[in-house]
Amino acid sequence: MLDVVVVGAGPSGLFAAALLLQQGFTVRVVEQRSEPGSHSRAIGLHPPGLAALDAVSVGADLTEQGVKIRHGKARSQGNIIASLDFSSLPAPYPFVLAIGQQHTEAALRARVLALDASAIEAPLTAVSMVSGPSSFRVRTSAQGQRGEFVARFAIIADGAKSVLRESMGVRTRHRKYADTYLMGDFADSTNYGAQAVLHLEPAGVVESFPLAGGLRRWVARTDQLQTTATTQLLAEIVADRTGCAVDPATATMLSPFSVQATTAARMYCGRAIIIGDAAHEISPIGGQGMTLGLLDAATLVPLLAGALRGQDVDTQMHSWERRRQGAAASARRQAEVNMTLGRPLGPRMLMGRNATISTVARSTFITEWVARRFTMTYQS
Ligand SMILES: Cc1cc2nc3c(=O)[nH]c(=O)nc-3n(C[C@H](O)[C@H](O)[C@H](O)COP(=O)(O)OP(=O)(O)OC[C@H]3O[C@@H](n4cnc5c(N)ncnc54)[C@H](O)[C@@H]3O)c2cc1C
Repeated sequence: MLDVVVVGAGPSGLFAAALLLQQGFTVRVVEQRSEPGSHSRAIGLHPPGLAALDAVSVGADLTEQGVKIRHGKARSQGNIIASLDFSSLPAPYPFVLAIGQQHTEAALRARVLALDASAIEAPLTAVSMVSGPSSFRVRTSAQGQRGEFVARFAIIADGAKSVLRESMGVRTRHRKYADTYLMGDFADSTNYGAQAVLHLEPAGVVESFPLAGGLRRWVARTDQLQTTATTQLLAEIVADRTGCAVDPATATMLSPFSVQATTAARMYCGRAIIIGDAAHEISPIGGQGMTLGLLDAATLVPLLAGALRGQDVDTQMHSWERRRQGAAASARRQAEVNMTLGRPLGPRMLMGRNATISTVARSTFITEWVARRFTMTYQS
């Protein structure tokens, strides 16, 4: 019997597995994909996430590879309306690290395999699970072949569309937003350097973030989901709203997306614990989803280690669940504020909103508070 079976080799599952393996527990990670993901989707690693990753010795390497965002600007119709400086954040990470999710996952995967070369079982799909008095069975399927893992505990980290969460009968609250976006990574042709820039324009927001390798991420709010969008379309939207020229031929990724938030009623389900997007999917506009999942793992593993060593951690697990659900609710609200700010506005409303932002941004107290909210520095 294994100590822990982890379902899902995304950032949440891999990080939990690395933390457990480091403490000498036996772990298997079941992953349905045959190849690691290559999409750059989550590009923001926030200070508490970076600090947590230090525990498995990957934070420093990622920091070397990524771009440190120390400043942000809000612009509108050619003017800078607010600036945000992250230098007030505590050391050692007074910045948000911009790095594609595929690199974060690769670093975690390498760490897991260095600790146990056979820890990742892929491609293998977990199809259901059965809980017993002292163990947990995760049933799997691969090319018509059935199998199962028996473990003392299971970590469910199979993402927003979690099948195992459903199979355990855990209820979810789902909210679909009307907002849609078009996102792409292109060669950086701006002079923004390592700054994040929010263009709050009449036709809707255009977000712009630096990436390693001379790339820049652009995210534009769209009127509807642009399922047949081309890189040319995103380049045109960026040019129309911001005046920035983006070369469509240099795109390395293009993704139209709509936005939803899904919250599982429970994370602590006895011998199974749900973490990451499987527990709380939030809008990518805000960029805090991946760090939330990493912090779920970082805070869960010490409790799980106690349970594996025979301690009664039931009360602590319940309070862990409450804290993590509170953290997810806070990140969800932050994302909702960001989405509201990015919606199209008529000229008078736009002027009023920009004037308010400019006034508020003159207060150091407020900008330092906003910097902590944006970077999740209030979370642990
Ligand atoms: C467009 C976009 C942009 C984003 N930008 C940001 C950002 O800037 N910052 C940020 O923090 N977050 C961002 N996010 C969110 C971030 O990508 C997720 O929060 C993060 O990937 C969640 O990690 P996870 O490990 O919980 O789940 P996932 O990354 O979804 O991993 C789940 C894993 O489980 C596997 N799996 C699923 N079902 C099974 C099964 N039955 N059996 C076996 N394996 C299974 C999947 O193949 C996958 O590998 C963004 C998301 C999107 C879509």
